[in-house]
Amino acid sequence: MKFADLHLHTRYSDGSYTPEELVREAARQGFAAIAVTDHDTLDAVPESRRAGGEFAIEVIAGVEITCRVETQEVHMLGFLFGETWKDQSLRAVLDHSKRVREQRIAQFVVKFNELGIPLTLQDVQELSNAGTVGRPHVAMALQKRGFVKSVEEAFERFLKRGKPAFVERYRMTAGEAIGHIKRAGGVAVLAHPALNRVDAQIPNLVEQGLDGLEVWHSRQSPAQSESYLKLAERLGLLATGGSDCHGTVRGEPLLGSVKIPYDRVEALRERVGQTK
Ligand code: AMP
Ligand code: ZN
Ligand code: FE
Ligand code: FE
Repeated sequence: MKFADLHLHTRYSDGSYTPEELVREAARQGFAAIAVTDHDTLDAVPESRRAGGEFAIEVIAGVEITCRVETQEVHMLGFLFGETWKDQSLRAVLDHSKRVREQRIAQFVVKFNELGIPLTLQDVQELSNAGTVGRPHVAMALQKRGFVKSVEEAFERFLKRGKPAFVERYRMTAGEAIGHIKRAGGVAVLAHPALNRVDAQIPNLVEQGLDGLEVWHSRQSPAQSESYLKLAERLGLLATGGSDCHGTVRGEPLLGSVKIPYDRVEALRERVGQTK
């Protein structure tokens, strides 16, 4: 049986693996296909595809766009088959999100300085050498400087919404994210619906062009997966799944914890009329 993992991060956002390390490990575990889905960037795609050729595994270009339904943050996965990942409009949108993320980091630094913690922009930048930057990089910088003992502690004490260093940021709506992905020729899938619940709004997202739900995810229970699979079937949506592995950033790598049948990948591809 051929299987796939359609939700994975690299060093181009907040994962610890290089694209090559990720692809090599996925090939070693026998995956037929993986999707690289960094936060708000496609920058890992060229290296990942090259490694896919080298290790004989299909690498699908993907992205996980941070967006919102009303004020609830959600994540939208975009799968870009063939050459659609090169779409200029999608790139421009992601470049904007990348700059918004960079500006937010400067605001975090100001907050920490106001709290008497002498974190610098450089401390954070040193931990994010490519792609997009985010709160995990701030957390790692705080740990490295010895201001907290762990990334978890950094989020709990400072970085979570409602904590003293939290900074809001502009996010596009889920409808906009779906539009950007689909205009590029991609497939739009709501990531881990059990983690940021907008269940009542899913039919609206379907009207805006949503193609699928991430039914299987390392942090969704079997009961939750069962229920989202039923919802997907009822709404005519595709079902995807992935581990959301970030490498060793948050403990043991999750790669291998979610394996979906390769048929699901073919269903995605058929949705946008792409051949292999
Ligand atoms: P950002 O997009 O910059 O707001 O950062 C959000 C990312 O931080 C998420 O995608 C997770 O990878 C990570 N994250 C969120 N909450 C926590 C937490 N409590 N502990 C560790 N990492 C977290
Ligand atoms: Zn992440
Ligand atoms: Fe996510
Ligand atoms: Fe993710």
